[in-house]
Amino acid sequence: ESDWTAVDEEFGHPDEDGGQPPQPVLAVVGRPNVGKSTLVNRIIGRREAVVQDKPGVTRDRVAYDALWSGRRFTVVDTGGWDPKAEGLQASVTQQAELAMMTADAVLLVVDAAVGATATDEAAARVLRRAKQPVLLAANKVDDERLLADTASLWSLGLGEPHPVSALHGRNSGDLLDAVLHALPATPRESLGESRGPRRVALVGKPNVGKSSLLNRLTGENRAVVDAVAGTTVDPVDSLVDLDGEMWRFVDTAGLRKRVKTASGMEYYASLRTRAAIEAAEVAIVLLDASEPISEQDLRVLTMVVDAGRACVLAMNKWDLVDEDRRHQLTKELERGLVRLPWAERINVSALTGRSVRKLAPALRTALTSWDQRVPTGQLNSWLSELIAATPPPVRSGKQPKVLFATQAQTRPPTLVLFTSGFLEAGYRRFIERRFRERFGFVGSPVRISVRVRE
Ligand code: GDP
Ligand code: GDP
Repeated sequence: ESDWTAVDEEFGHPDEDGGQPPQPVLAVVGRPNVGKSTLVNRIIGRREAVVQDKPGVTRDRVAYDALWSGRRFTVVDTGGWDPKAEGLQASVTQQAELAMMTADAVLLVVDAAVGATATDEAAARVLRRAKQPVLLAANKVDDERLLADTASLWSLGLGEPHPVSALHGRNSGDLLDAVLHALPATPRESLGESRGPRRVALVGKPNVGKSSLLNRLTGENRAVVDAVAGTTVDPVDSLVDLDGEMWRFVDTAGLRKRVKTASGMEYYASLRTRAAIEAAEVAIVLLDASEPISEQDLRVLTMVVDAGRACVLAMNKWDLVDEDRRHQLTKELERGLVRLPWAERINVSALTGRSVRKLAPALRTALTSWDQRVPTGQLNSWLSELIAATPPPVRSGKQPKVLFATQAQTRPPTLVLFTSGFLEAGYRRFIERRFRERFGFVGSPVRISVRVRE
């Protein structure tokens, strides 16, 4: 018997333990009947059916949280994703592609008694391009005599085949040790995380109050360093201490020098804005609350959303806003902010300093959302319930099914939904809305990408 520990569905619920670090994902790939489900059940330490039959629900629950030697990770059975697809070969190579898109390590399972088939070879060919580690399990090696069959699997070009018997547990400990060795401690999207201060862009149309706000922020917090470490010439960023934390306000040189060139000013301002947003992780978008929201404002907001950056809205010049203007503004915002209803809004005045202190907590919230990852198992159980209650609308007589979902990325959070049919934009927005109700993500855009299986 294996030493795998079962982990139930509620394990590590962020609501209960205040968030857990993201887990690396192991994807299990292989032809039907090679023993993937048996192996996955062994990995998660239970034998009950993997399939959950509820009408209208994704037929298969395919992602599970696992714990081994004190390390948590997610196991994804890509075979459960679509075992009955037309065209066997295509389906296994598709699994491999899916695995490479979403996993931190891939385990290709082959039936050692059968040996490498053309389908196994096709999958191996795809997996040899993988950037992440790929392991090869030679399954159904139930006893010593079958070990010889394993050696021929070197031909797949995926390194050493690991003999295992998923059914009896034979050598599964060794395989699992190899898996843990291959899996990075943290998922790939949390690698390369920025060190040092988080990067903020202060953007908005000309005269909205960017320089004034920067002066206010730096003036109130004397610890300002106008330089990128080690540079004395033309520093472009400002390090600003807000609320006890250092932040890097990117590309502030122009602001501080108050460069106002006459010709083509708007064009350059717009290029500059785009560059600042690209360089930043989060943007403070300033709007002039005393004036109607303009096309120019909306262009800046669109840039931030399209760049996939976290965002905080600062409604500046609030000292000029009276009752009438406030009502008007509420209406304008309803129309203007359809693409980012999730952004936190703070009514500030760079002139008086009103609510300027609220910016740092809002920036933190937005960045936490931007970095947040919902574990695959949790995402799929939430989504199957949602879809069971409200299935996607039928299109040309067919009911599209969501087969599997994963949050493939953070920064910005990106969900990938694998479906058996087209999902209308309205339904995707519905999913996003409910996703936010359940998981938060205040201050960050969330992208939903749909892969339809033809
Ligand atoms: P999947 O389609 O790849 O998920 O394969 P399953 O896990 O459903 O297994 C297919 C068949 O192979 C089942 O009858 C299993 O009991 C059997 N099987 C799985 N692992 C082993 C093994 O290690 N040895 C033997 N002899 N049979 C196995
Ligand atoms: P920038 O072009 O976005 O950098 O805008 P500035 O910081 O140069 O501000 C443009 C004008 O708006 C200046 O005259 C500022 O004094 C004024 N201003 C900036 N913030 C406020 C504010 O909160 N309230 C009021 N009443 N005026 C402000």
